[in-house]
Amino acid sequence: MNNALRIISAVFYILTSIVISGLSTSDIQRLLRGAKTDITEKNCCCDLCGKPIPVIRQIPVISFLLSKGRCSMCGAKIPLLPTIQEGIIIAEAVVCGIITGFASYAVIINFGLYELFKIVMIVFNGRRSTEFAKSFIISVGLNICLFGLIYGFMAAVEFIDTLI
Ligand SMILES: [Zn+2]
Repeated sequence: MNNALRIISAVFYILTSIVISGLSTSDIQRLLRGAKTDITEKNCCCDLCGKPIPVIRQIPVISFLLSKGRCSMCGAKIPLLPTIQEGIIIAEAVVCGIITGFASYAVIINFGLYELFKIVMIVFNGRRSTEFAKSFIISVGLNICLFGLIYGFMAAVEFIDTLI
């Protein structure tokens, strides 16, 4: 593959993996026992004070370390599990990217592993008590769209590579 295209693919892949790991805390945590927030709620809120969390405070793993594990508004302790989850998802995606040479099909593998991880989390933590089935279907549907867009971009870059 053309070097410039390879770099574009790799950077795009890593950035979108970070975004997905950040979104995973809304996506997966909202399916688990005790969750009440609607799966499509755009704002990411503190579980205790209910205040929206600014985007700068939503950077996966790093935000947790910078805030020393506490909400910047109310000082409540942020649960560790979602942060571990973000770390696992980024690590899995990066390993998969390196092994495949940042090929587009890595995105399909990531999608499969992500949904598998989601099911494992639900089995071990229990499902939310209200609107679980509806939330689960929406969650998988949104991820098909999201991973599909990322795959589409990566596949387009590979196609351009065959032309030049
Ligand atoms: Zn708070």
